[in-house]
Amino acid sequence: MSRGSSEDAEPQFERGPVRVLFGERKGAYPDGNSILVTGEQETLLIDPALGLRRDPAALPEIHRILLSHCHEDHTAGLSLFPEIPVHVHELDRPGLDSLDDMMAIYAYGEPIDVPFRRALVENFHYAPRPDAQAYADGAVFDLGGVRVRAHHTPGHTRGHCCLMVEWSEAGTKRRLLYLGDIELTGFGPYYGDAWSDLEDFEQSLRWVRDIEADWYATFHHIGVLEGRDAFLERLDIFEAAIARREGNLLEFLAEPHNIEEVAEHRFVYRPKDDVPFAPAVERRSMQQHIDRLIKAGRLRALDEGRYQIT
Ligand SMILES: [Zn+2]
Repeated sequence: MSRGSSEDAEPQFERGPVRVLFGERKGAYPDGNSILVTGEQETLLIDPALGLRRDPAALPEIHRILLSHCHEDHTAGLSLFPEIPVHVHELDRPGLDSLDDMMAIYAYGEPIDVPFRRALVENFHYAPRPDAQAYADGAVFDLGGVRVRAHHTPGHTRGHCCLMVEWSEAGTKRRLLYLGDIELTGFGPYYGDAWSDLEDFEQSLRWVRDIEADWYATFHHIGVLEGRDAFLERLDIFEAAIARREGNLLEFLAEPHNIEEVAEHRFVYRPKDDVPFAPAVERRSMQQHIDRLIKAGRLRALDEGRYQIT
């Protein structure tokens, strides 16, 4: 980026067959950055975001849609393409069967379920796609001169995948790794849904750390990073949130507290963040930390559902 360019400049990335369709505010939630991959035979759209609804006529002809995982913001543009084949990892595929199946991925419970269900339809344009096709770890989509390979990286959801786009430029192999919601922000990993798993997420982070690519792209905020050093720098910041939450939890549990008090204290969101599902996410995320700290002998369960450090 040149010295004179403004922070507010529209981000752009177009390289070989890959074009990033940046959402508003660099794809900040509820928007996101969709990826367009154009091969000699087919054009593939990865994670159709909300922002695509602003001007769908500006999009080229799409032959296939690929989802990194089944979440409301990654499917918010999907209903623009009711006739186009859509593919998602086999473990997340049930989320496209019906609104009830989609809700089961989050399972926030009351009082969030009713407004969240409405938001899925009204704000995120959820429409079932029972025809969605399941892919497995290692699946390859050959578009002609460019290939997209799925790598199962669970934790955020059961079926979350990273998607490696590979092509050749003047005899040199080029690779862009699309990370989906391994989103590399300072907020850190999100593992607060019924279909999330902290330890699976950690294992996926270990896997992704070793992956060589020319570019690394995320759905939110960070956009595209060039080179592995820039990627690893952001990955360290992202991953550090897990240890920070756990350290803060241990400090808080110097005095006995139950899970409701843990959730109210907030370890994932900041107390000022106005997020309706925060209590559910705090409970679920931090219960996973509590469970493994008990297993490791660093916490003990007391009476009345309270926990304390050993
Ligand atoms: Zn997600």
